[in-house]
Amino acid sequence: MSNCAIRFKNISKKYDTVTALDLVNLEINDHITTALVGESGSGKTTLLRLVNGLMQPSGGQVEIFGDAIDYEKLPDMRKKMGYAVQGGGLFPHMTVYQNITIMAKLENWHETRIKERADYLIELVNLQKDLLDRFPHELSGGQRQRVSLCRALMLNPSLLLLDEPFSALDPITKGYIHEEFVKLQKAESRAILLVTHDMEEAVKLADNIVIIKKGKVIQNGKVEEIIASPKNEYVSNLLDKVTD
Ligand code: ADP
Ligand code: MG
Repeated sequence: MSNCAIRFKNISKKYDTVTALDLVNLEINDHITTALVGESGSGKTTLLRLVNGLMQPSGGQVEIFGDAIDYEKLPDMRKKMGYAVQGGGLFPHMTVYQNITIMAKLENWHETRIKERADYLIELVNLQKDLLDRFPHELSGGQRQRVSLCRALMLNPSLLLLDEPFSALDPITKGYIHEEFVKLQKAESRAILLVTHDMEEAVKLADNIVIIKKGKVIQNGKVEEIIASPKNEYVSNLLDKVTD
């Protein structure tokens, strides 16, 4: 029980005529990284947004660490969650340092504690110190993604939600950020749900993989299991793109 970070119970989500999620039953384990993989439009972002309460399901229930989401208490719940998206989703009018520390400020953390945590994360993701006073538009894509990770991790959340955070990066920058991501996983244990359409990234960074197609879970298991026995052609095709 306590090993379950997120539980989706009979989840469906409809947008008007589109069924984005179709009776999803799924458990995401604590302390490990789970990659949610599927082609564009398969429902990955929808599933992630149901976790932080940005959206409510049309049917079914989402449980976070054993409790059903209380939509009246989203701000409290979100303190336990870090969320980062493709492009960083940074506040354009705030500097890098302000972006990273805003959540802790709002939580009235002491200035010393804020600085300690920020310095630790900035070091962990290899963000150059001279970037801290810049604004998001003055950063490269890789730098923005690093800032976004720091911001998501500032409050040391027990759950980290990542929606294609590395998709827009060139292969070399992606390689570096992947290394930093692995460092981060080792440094602090938490449940991570990583949405990606890139199976290579999933294999590299995740312990478990959940494959979805047209709003349905197709396969769910350890990385090695999925590689050893892909359930159908959809999964094999995704795996074909993995080069090593
Ligand atoms: P993914 O992240 O895997 O690309 P999404 O969860 O964004 O998939 O979308 C799943 C399906 O729901 C797609 O068919 C998409 O077009 C549809 N969809 C997503 N968001 C909306 C919305 N706000 N209104 C209508 N349809 C949507
Ligand atoms: Mg998406």
